[in-house]
Amino acid sequence: MNRRPIAQINVDALQHNFNHIRSLAPQSNVLAVLKANAYGHGLLAVAEQLNAAGAFGVARIDEALMLRAGGIVKPIVLLEGFFHPDELPQIVASNLQIVVHDQSQAEALLAAELEAPVHVWLKVDSGMHRLGIYPSEFHDIYQQLMASPKVLKPLRLMTHFACADDPKNPATTAQLALFTQLTQGCDAELSIANSAGVLAWPQSHGDWIRPGLALYGISPMLAGRSAQHGLRPVMTFSSSVIAVRQVKKGDAVGYGATWVAPKDTNLAVVATGYGDGYPRNAPNGTPVLINGQRMPVVGRVSMDMTMVDIGQQAVQVGDPVVLWGETLAVEEIAELVQTIPYELLCNITSRVQLRYVTD
Ligand SMILES: *Cc1c(COP(=O)(O)O)cnc(C)c1O
Repeated sequence: MNRRPIAQINVDALQHNFNHIRSLAPQSNVLAVLKANAYGHGLLAVAEQLNAAGAFGVARIDEALMLRAGGIVKPIVLLEGFFHPDELPQIVASNLQIVVHDQSQAEALLAAELEAPVHVWLKVDSGMHRLGIYPSEFHDIYQQLMASPKVLKPLRLMTHFACADDPKNPATTAQLALFTQLTQGCDAELSIANSAGVLAWPQSHGDWIRPGLALYGISPMLAGRSAQHGLRPVMTFSSSVIAVRQVKKGDAVGYGATWVAPKDTNLAVVATGYGDGYPRNAPNGTPVLINGQRMPVVGRVSMDMTMVDIGQQAVQVGDPVVLWGETLAVEEIAELVQTIPYELLCNITSRVQLRYVTD
């Protein structure tokens, strides 16, 4: 029997989420975000499912080239543009679209010899202060790009939210107001909303929404859960029990002896560890599901294995273990390990077999 950990990817759940997102923003095109191996779900396989998307978004040129090599012909946007002008010939040859996020990038583009014009998404910093041209530069750069035959029309204007996961945070309203004011009267398409924008800030939908996490069925909101938003988790990360053993009261378990049995009990050893992407800092008590029942992780997660206190439950070698998925929210695990679901999903390593299933 194959005891490799498995990430089961439910393509019906993916379709459900895509359709749900589209119904929330019926006037918008969807730029489906597939960076970081589609948040751990498999870049090409996810792209092949999302026929109805208007475009795909990736972070790096090699991700875009993998999609092209896999036969994907849909528009692909490099969300951080080019890192060096010597990438431009490849960008043109592979028909990729680019974000322009600072003045030097705009200058390099306008100075370059291109075989063909490119689609440009001009990114404005409306308050996140990570990437984007300054609002004070906007009108000049906008005019230059509009006037350039190297830039296909319509031009797209975009910005990115810093705090959209918190519906009470006034920063989002301020970002939206600044971007709306800057782009007023521009002959261009607008793109603002990430997943949290799609779900919580309908004023931000614009011409193109850019959902990532919500496509995979996970809540991007603080303390959120999939079901609140009508989403279905796409990934179920599971493994199996490879040993069941007794421990006596007072026995210390695992590296560093960080858990000591408070009474005689039984442990299941699960064939998954941080080498697979299960978080090493999962504290004692982090839940897993064995035969559908919640049971606590005890001791330190090691590279290939994790221990679970099964008490007196009947658990056998070979029994299935769910680490997160439809029946155990990855949002809950992320809160326990003080991270966000994004990080857990894209930390799944290549040791984990991705298996595509339907309902
Ligand atoms: C990653 C990314 C997104 C998607 O964000 P989610 O929170 O996963 O929806 C959208 N826009 C840009 C520019 C991104 O880099």
